[in-house]
Amino acid sequence: MGIVVQKYGGSSVANIEKIKWVADKIISRYKQGDSVVVIVSAMGNTTNNLLALAKDISDDPDQREMDMLLTTGEQVTISLLAMALISKGYNSVSFTGSQLNIQTTDIHQNARIKDIDVLKINKSLEENKIVVVAGFQGITKDSEYTTLGRGGSDTSAVALAVKLGAKCEIYTDVDGIYTMDPRRLKKAKKIDIIGYEEMMEMASLGAGVIHHRAVELAYNFKLPMYVASTFSENTGTTITDGGMVEMEETVITGMTSSLDDVQITVLNLPSCTKSLYRLFGNLGEQGVNVDMISQMIIKNGRMNVSFTVPKEDLNKAEKNIKEWQKDDDKIQWESNESIAKISVVGSGMRSHSGVAAKIFELMSNNNIEIQMVTTSEIKITWVVDMKNEQLAIELIGENFELIK
Ligand code: ASP
Ligand code: MG
Repeated sequence: MGIVVQKYGGSSVANIEKIKWVADKIISRYKQGDSVVVIVSAMGNTTNNLLALAKDISDDPDQREMDMLLTTGEQVTISLLAMALISKGYNSVSFTGSQLNIQTTDIHQNARIKDIDVLKINKSLEENKIVVVAGFQGITKDSEYTTLGRGGSDTSAVALAVKLGAKCEIYTDVDGIYTMDPRRLKKAKKIDIIGYEEMMEMASLGAGVIHHRAVELAYNFKLPMYVASTFSENTGTTITDGGMVEMEETVITGMTSSLDDVQITVLNLPSCTKSLYRLFGNLGEQGVNVDMISQMIIKNGRMNVSFTVPKEDLNKAEKNIKEWQKDDDKIQWESNESIAKISVVGSGMRSHSGVAAKIFELMSNNNIEIQMVTTSEIKITWVVDMKNEQLAIELIGENFELIK
């Protein structure tokens, strides 16, 4: 038999009842014969609560101390889950990221996994133990704690599955990947199989189910991921190579909409490539994930640049621009948090033209102003005012067969 890595998200382990349920689910998998390694997130809202505590101390808490704080969340879950398994008569042991030497880069709160030492895990598996590992965390070469960015436990799971040559199963509070989050688009359909590329696009643009870096990693190592519900027996979604066969017929596979971004516009930058390099180079160095970039209107040697970043990175971006303003008082900037970033994704777009035109037609006929647009081979993203979000996604859902 092989090894399976199962990951349970925060909502699946939100209280003791659920932890016991998850323990039973793990045991029944273990009884089927596979060795089981479990990755867990922090219980329920723990990570948010920890972040709120830090915010009560400072608007811009020290990054190292932040990771010291955040890594406690997962540590609570692993110990409780291992206790639950042991109390049910099974051998289990839990490990933190540092105990397993989950080596990462040193960007706090957005670290990347470099390597994992699986010796300890393999030894425990040989002793027939169910191994429980804290997701979302790692350690730098200088023994500093790091976290992988919000939702990073999925990435921990994929990385471990790759290193162990294991199957990878992600259990969460929905029973798979939908054409859109059913909480946002009521009649969204479940997708049985989706290609890595489509899933990467959807995940990186706010499809809450799977962390985008987890899908990237799975794609790089061609590791199939199975995503299903912790609390139901419904068949989930498999993320794998190639995507849906019937995709040939479908132009758009899925849609995402995110309210988590802020649009920043920097006005009157000296118009040269050096400025762009300085702006985005600095943001990149600080681990700020810039997404859309547009509107470069050049006038009198000056240009305006608009871009979106996750709201949580607004502080860092702000700091950066303020620093620059000190040397150049012409530079101004504004931010707009009242935006929705909507994206449609589908490898069918490679062979179908007119998708963007159709979207513009739908928005225009319904007086929805588009504030920014970007496209790639299999994705179109546009920004609208938050107040128009629901109407916009319903229009797209109805017109591109994304609903039941
Ligand atoms: N607990 C972390 C978070 O809430 C990591 C995760 O759940 O994947 O972002
Ligand atoms: Mg998650």
